[in-house]
Amino acid sequence: MRKADCIFCKIANGEIPSSTIYEDDEFRVILDLGPASRGHALILPKEHFKDVCELDEATAARILPLGAKIGTAMKKSLGCAGFNLVQNNGEAAGQTVFHFHMHVIPRYEGGPSIASWKTGSATPEELQETAEKIQNAL
Ligand code: 5GP
Ligand code: ZN
Repeated sequence: MRKADCIFCKIANGEIPSSTIYEDDEFRVILDLGPASRGHALILPKEHFKDVCELDEATAARILPLGAKIGTAMKKSLGCAGFNLVQNNGEAAGQTVFHFHMHVIPRYEGGPSIASWKTGSATPEELQETAEKIQNAL
């Protein structure tokens, strides 16, 4: 299903033009308007899913292979040394457009740090307690 007021539904289904690098029946892959690096792309399902929790299994199963295919093409065509697959869920996680999308971000030698966090610390007891909490909610 598509959502009437969703910009990524409109872009994915071709109602709003975009720099498209790949399209099939289920997905459109476009260049991000505010690229973190040259070639930064977004994998958009044509159906509306708010975030990863709403994806059906068949759609979800296609996304990582598609990310690998796009990333491989970026390495060949743009000369990046690697790429990040990044996917934000919820405002607290940095999601700003609430239609599922996977970022494919080319990483160049000597380029800026893009997806990183400061390493923290936890005792074995804290790790165990946290692991049990999550396990019990599965
Ligand atoms: P999020 O923060 O939700 O994970 O990522 C949203 C991304 O969508 C951002 O990187 C932003 O630059 C990009 N974006 C937002 N609106 C548009 C648009 O209209 N067209 C394109 N191509 N990218 C967009
Ligand atoms: Zn949508």
